[in-house]
Amino acid sequence: MEIPIAALNQYDYCPHRCWRMFCLGEFVDNVYTLEGTFLHTRADSGVFTTVDGVAQYRNVDLYSAQHELVGKADLIEHRAGAWLPVEYKRGGRGKWGNDRIQVCAQGLCLEEMLQTVVSHGAIFYAASAGRVEFALDEPLRAETLAVIARVRTLFTRGQEPPAHLMPRCQGCSLQAACLPTLGERVARYREQWE
Ligand code: SF4
Repeated sequence: MEIPIAALNQYDYCPHRCWRMFCLGEFVDNVYTLEGTFLHTRADSGVFTTVDGVAQYRNVDLYSAQHELVGKADLIEHRAGAWLPVEYKRGGRGKWGNDRIQVCAQGLCLEEMLQTVVSHGAIFYAASAGRVEFALDEPLRAETLAVIARVRTLFTRGQEPPAHLMPRCQGCSLQAACLPTLGERVARYREQWE
């Protein structure tokens, strides 16, 4: 079963959100998702450019037969013989690690497609116009492989992961459908009345 790379990001953010998006096909835009779409539209220009000797390929299709992954990279750079996947994100520096999982999965695909080693990845944060590069080191690779396995299990079983209220629910576009406080309210009610 092929796993969309974007699902890894969503799963690491919240398994329940991943289940809603990829098993139920639910998606709701909010201001954050719309800003992200606008940003990706600009990144998805399909243009090949060279900037200061760095070759840049935009909107690149990716796959891995080994890991059964499919997806896209916003940008792939080639400089001094090294390949670097770059992901565009709308906000400031991410508080969560899910974006790095996504970039690491892109790196795994590139390694297989180009028969090379991809040692680093990068995230461009639009809000701060800043770019963060990081190593695709063993801990990040192990975490990424673990998330791929969890998403595969989720897609195979289709079982709903519980929705837990957490700080990241604040920016989640599916909050109105998910009602993450409902489970806890029901549990409190049961404790009181049952
Ligand atoms: S509102 Fe919270 S629990 Fe519900 S899908 Fe979003 S992040 Fe997950």
